[in-house]
Formats: sequence, C-alpha cells, structure tokens
Amino acid sequence: MNGTASILIAALLGALTWSFLEYAIHRWLGHSKVAPKNPFGVDHIRHHVEGGYFSPTWKKCVVGLVFTGVLALPAVLVLGTALGLGYVGGLIAFYATYELLHRLEHVRPGFGPYARWARRHHFTHHFTDARKNHGVTSPLWDLVFGTYQAPGTIQVPRKLGMPWLLDPATGEVRSAHAGSFVLKGGRDGEARPSQR
Ligand SMILES: [Zn+2]
Ligand SMILES: [Zn+2]
Repeated sequence: MNGTASILIAALLGALTWSFLEYAIHRWLGHSKVAPKNPFGVDHIRHHVEGGYFSPTWKKCVVGLVFTGVLALPAVLVLGTALGLGYVGGLIAFYATYELLHRLEHVRPGFGPYARWARRHHFTHHFTDARKNHGVTSPLWDLVFGTYQAPGTIQVPRKLGMPWLLDPATGEVRSAHAGSFVLKGGRDGEARPSQR
C-alpha cells in the first residue's frame, strides 16, 4: 500500500473515532445519569431546553485545540508523523463537519437529502425521545448500542418552533415540512397537526 492510501485510511479511522466520540460524549456526558452536572451535560441540557442555544464557538475551539494537542503526540509516537497527523486530521475534520451539520440542522431550512435525513434523526432525539438517536452525523452507533429510532412525525413544542419550520404568516408549520413535523401545544395544550 502506498503512503497516500495509508494516510487516507488513517484519516478515515480518525473520522470513525470521532463518530464514536460524538455518540459517547452526547449519550454519556450530555445525558449522564451518573454526573448530570458535568459542564458538557449542563450546556447540552440548556441546548435541549432553549432550542436555539449552542455553546459559544470560542469554547468549542479551546476544547478542540486542547484535545488535538493531547491526541497528536501519542498518535505521532505510535503511528509515525504522516499517519499520526492523518489520523488526528481525519478526526478533527469530521468533528468540524459534525459541528457545522448540527448547527445547520437547527438554523437552516432544507439543504440536501442527507442533511434533511440527519435533521429528522436528530430532532427525533430532541423532540420525541432523548434516550434515542445520540449520533448526529450517522445512525451507526445508535444501531450498535440499540438506541436507534426511525424518525416518524416529529412533534415540536410550539414555543421551540424553529424559524425555518414556521410560516411567519400563519405561525403554523410550513407546507414543505408538513409531512414530517407538527406543532405541539396549541391553545388547548394538546398536540395537533399543522393546519396547512
Ligand atoms: Zn441539537
Ligand atoms: Zn441530547
């Protein structure tokens, strides 16, 4: 195998490592039953409760840089410079992809079939059952650990309705999303389908 192919495989393994960390951090720190007050858990529950809240970007950058520094040295020592940096590069690149995708899921309207799938997968976690679908970029580890739930119609609390979801003229679900999302908590406080 030539050097480029080896580095590519190292980068893919790094991406796979992030995929697992994405699941593990979200499930066991974000929704920790043992230590619910851990800093990530506190921030994450706020993300659930407020909907539009995200940890400040500077905080993510600091954690990302520290994590990269801590990981890069042993990776280079074990795998050599090229493979070690390829592994860490793949992991960090996929982490950045995750951050971007997660942010876009919450704040943007439709943006391609994969991202629309990922949003329904993630919003099933947010609004249907927070014990399910901890993966954001893929269902891989949810399938492995038995926490996968196929998205059905997602009931979004009216007060957490995202701007891309709601028609500003009516305050109801936009027709483009009417098959996938309904608002919960109308005047009667009950779930009800979009009126469109
Ligand atoms: Zn989210
Ligand atoms: Zn969560």
